[in-house]
Amino acid sequence: VASYQHAEGICLRRIAFSNTSQVADFLTSQAGRLSVMAKGVTRAPRRGVRTGFDLLGRYELLYTRRRGSLQNLTSQWLLEGFVGLRRELPRMLAAYYAAELMLSFTVEDEACPGLYALLVDCLRSFADGRDVALNVLRLELGALREHGSCPSFDSCAACEGTLPARGAVTFSLSDGGPLCRRCERELPGRPGLRTTTARADLLRLLAAFSSGAERPAPAEGQVTAMSALLRFHIRDLLGRELRMWRYLHKGGLSRSLQRARRGAGVA
Ligand SMILES: [Zn+2]
Repeated sequence: VASYQHAEGICLRRIAFSNTSQVADFLTSQAGRLSVMAKGVTRAPRRGVRTGFDLLGRYELLYTRRRGSLQNLTSQWLLEGFVGLRRELPRMLAAYYAAELMLSFTVEDEACPGLYALLVDCLRSFADGRDVALNVLRLELGALREHGSCPSFDSCAACEGTLPARGAVTFSLSDGGPLCRRCERELPGRPGLRTTTARADLLRLLAAFSSGAERPAPAEGQVTAMSALLRFHIRDLLGRELRMWRYLHKGGLSRSLQRARRGAGVA
């Protein structure tokens, strides 16, 4: 017997299936990642018109649960289209990147109300063109926290000791965080360790920012440098680069990134 379920979700991906159907992935507050088969969703109301899900649209979904991971969508209502995203390419790219982050770091059947609320909030900011880079950083940190792999930015990842107050700090990808000077000195005895470099001041900023206790307003160059550090961490965690990252950070962002890299000596 089919049991009907309700969920609110953001469409992260949709793939055409047969002539009139789509398979779509959503991030929902109640059920985490949700994959649905939407039969007849692209059936044209009149000839020549194709419909289907809006990528990144916010929907109310009614579906029946089946065994396996593909649920059967019965009805859907578009609640919010974030139409401002389509006004400028950087907004759209940030939203695509957000979708890729969510697809990479969330799982099925695990409620994630905090991350879902953050995603909706960030999509609204992207649609308005408000603090795009800063909201990308918020989402990166949020996705990592939800996944349980957000670094601790204010203590040594190997011994929980105190981090250097200034200068370049070794960020150990293998340990998933920055290292104190003592653990840094032991690096030659740990061959095969994967590391990059971070700046002490950026780590402090990341610690403050990810705790949410205060809302510092970092400069754009600092935001990009923080995202760049998380990118190394994310790439190491997933074993691959997020596809949208390099598109997102082209242009203005990549110029400030280069400046930040020169300043930090990051590879
Ligand atoms: Zn240490």
